[in-house]
Amino acid sequence: MRNKKSNLLIIYPTFFFQDVYHKDLFYSELPLKSLQISALLKKKENISIDFLDLRFEEELSPLFSKNEIDFLKFKEKVIKVLEHNSIEKFENVSFFLDSSYQYLQTNYISEIFKEEFPKAKIIVGGQHPTAIASDFTNKGSNFNIVIVGEPESVMLDLIKSNYLNKAKNSKQPQIIESRNDFDLNLLPFPDYLSYLNKYNYKNKFNFTIHLSRGCPFNCSFCKIMRTNFRNFSFIQFIKRFEKLQRIVLKYNNKLPKIGFLDQSFNSAILSNKILKYIIKNNLQEIFKFTCQTRIEIVYNHKEILYFFKKAGMVAGFGFESANENLLIEMNKTRNPGNYFKKMKKILEFYKTITEPYCRINTLAGFPGENAQSFQDTINFLETYGFHENIQISPSLFINDPITPVYNNMSYFEEKYGTKFKKEWWNIQSDPLKNSVLPKPSKNYTKAQLIKDYKDQYIHLLTKFKLSPFEPLINWKNYFNKWEKALET
Ligand code: SF4
Repeated sequence: MRNKKSNLLIIYPTFFFQDVYHKDLFYSELPLKSLQISALLKKKENISIDFLDLRFEEELSPLFSKNEIDFLKFKEKVIKVLEHNSIEKFENVSFFLDSSYQYLQTNYISEIFKEEFPKAKIIVGGQHPTAIASDFTNKGSNFNIVIVGEPESVMLDLIKSNYLNKAKNSKQPQIIESRNDFDLNLLPFPDYLSYLNKYNYKNKFNFTIHLSRGCPFNCSFCKIMRTNFRNFSFIQFIKRFEKLQRIVLKYNNKLPKIGFLDQSFNSAILSNKILKYIIKNNLQEIFKFTCQTRIEIVYNHKEILYFFKKAGMVAGFGFESANENLLIEMNKTRNPGNYFKKMKKILEFYKTITEPYCRINTLAGFPGENAQSFQDTINFLETYGFHENIQISPSLFINDPITPVYNNMSYFEEKYGTKFKKEWWNIQSDPLKNSVLPKPSKNYTKAQLIKDYKDQYIHLLTKFKLSPFEPLINWKNYFNKWEKALET
């Protein structure tokens, strides 16, 4: 039995070599995983918890946009920030990573702990440790526990037991695999308030909620953790939803927005019930809602479009590509002809209404992509998606170690002559640029891909009626600079 109240500092790292474009992409997200764990540990174990989000620590932020990492300066500033946050009183420190981009910085900070605060027990979990736990267990590693999979149940067990002390005395970091089946209905509401008391920015963050975890599909580019697919009960979900509405009205009062985080809204049985709940309570008059969904789900249940319209729900459709072969390689569909037919029908619907708009997500640079497959997608978008009520939202394929592609690289190397950069997260330069494939296919280089991406998407992006001016300029500048650098 523990005889004194335990405590934990949760550090949310960011990454180096940032451009203003990265800030548009990564600075409005809340560290939801950390907030969820905080609420659970506080409720079940009465533990005291503090957050340190390195994105918003003024001492550190100037260092993140430099062209080189000045490790000594970084160390000096990190120590200052930690001391300012009373680091001496924390026995336990954890990092829950959302992306491999955070790997390098997490590792550096663990070294600083080793030298300056050696008593702290260090836990790391999240996306990168789940994909490649061995990156945290090398000789001399300063991590004590590496969590593979969902962290909630493991964190509860660690705090309840004496295992953290044992792990601290062990020479090797301990890897603990999660069962990935934590009952979502036992999760308390995330600890937004503690975080927002500290990082008290109004109208800055995107607030999101999910009604399920995992995903019943298996797209080969997907970066979510592979866990059992499960839902909140409707009652539990509504309790969380109502609490979140109150927080959003307080912290996001200029434009109250709530995004449904589920990667495929409407595969969950609950989603229609939730849409009806929104409509019945007229919530669409107060909030803007967004979600992600799949083309076939909406097409096969066409009443959803009616509910989306009434609820003002902006749906993002994961279309990805208009090239038949790539869609099959992405494990997106086995029947591309039918898939295109469904997408076209849905887009026709959005062209007949003014509100809400819809979003089409596309993915460029997937292994096997070539000049023709890229053009197929652009042609499809120009023919069927070029409309002011349709937002086109492209992204580049990231060779994230958690994706099925990463575990199957030799297949693409042999079939398409794809070139991969395997451990790009160790490289000391912009991780976004490093995570994109050097060659999606034999005759299609990264330089060609970035040029096509920048040249061909710009007019598609500006057609949308709410196209945001400043982020678009940042996007253009970033890709212009990147294109030039690749030419040299
Ligand atoms: S991309 Fe979306 S639909 Fe596909 S596996 Fe991932 S979460 Fe599921």
